[in-house]
Amino acid sequence: MRRITLTGAELEGFAPAGPASYIKLIFPEPGQTEPTRPLPDGPRAVSMRTYTPLAVRSETLEVDVDFVLHGEGPASSWAAQATVGQVLFLMGPGPGYAVDPAATQHLLIADDSALPAVETILAALPAGTQARVLLEVISEAEQRPLHSAAALDVRWLPRGSDHRSAGVPLAKALREGPAIDAGARIYLACEAAAMRRVRQLLIDELGVERSRIVGRGYWKLDAVNHPDHDYGEDS
Ligand SMILES: Cc1cc2nc3c(=O)[nH]c(=O)nc-3n(C[C@H](O)[C@H](O)[C@H](O)COP(=O)(O)OP(=O)(O)OC[C@H]3O[C@@H](n4cnc5c(N)ncnc54)[C@H](O)[C@@H]3O)c2cc1C
Repeated sequence: MRRITLTGAELEGFAPAGPASYIKLIFPEPGQTEPTRPLPDGPRAVSMRTYTPLAVRSETLEVDVDFVLHGEGPASSWAAQATVGQVLFLMGPGPGYAVDPAATQHLLIADDSALPAVETILAALPAGTQARVLLEVISEAEQRPLHSAAALDVRWLPRGSDHRSAGVPLAKALREGPAIDAGARIYLACEAAAMRRVRQLLIDELGVERSRIVGRGYWKLDAVNHPDHDYGEDS
């Protein structure tokens, strides 16, 4: 992961739209030093990708974004080389996850691309609630302290750098237990096919009612620019 702080006068008034909200970032295309400014009725930028505003400091007009450095891709390649003074376009925010105040347990199941989203959800949980967090990351070095007013039970699950095993550690950890509360609310965000497999496991093997799961495919193996509205409800 690499954290990049974005700043600019146009961030005046910017505020995230709840936990796990998203922004659209437009990166320069090959040969460009700056991306093309999008026009309201213009074509969709090919190098536009979806990210999470992790921290917003409105007083200094700053937004922190944590990028997974996964290899080739306009976003990951840009983040790996980013230096002070480079220019991006930021649009948004788009809506995030509604925390259910009646949930008896919050279960957050995510890979590294959704770690920033999980952190924003944890920050929104009230004291007196319980959160169980399963986080699949490339290596143990990605572990970091997580903060919440809720009581936390966190498991970091190193996957290794082979992205083809995305979701395997999450499924294994869920099968190991403990049992999931009948009143739990579940946020599940990771690679798109892994999200579908884990969703089925929750429903078929662990008896979770499907309406209790919010699924999000954050990226898809071998797919460029996977759409940001993949909820896995087709599975
Ligand atoms: C609501 C939402 C919020 C998101 N927030 C974040 C965030 O805060 N931080 C973050 O890092 N990502 C986040 N993502 C995921 C990010 O949008 C995707 O990973 C995106 O594909 C990255 O674009 P790219 O240009 O680097 O790669 P692309 O051009 O889209 O893809 C190129 C290749 O890289 C692979 N790839 C893409 N992402 C990954 C990955 N994470 N791991 C391994 N291989 C990958 C693809 O399978 C493809 O083969 C979010 C996604 C959504 C929907």
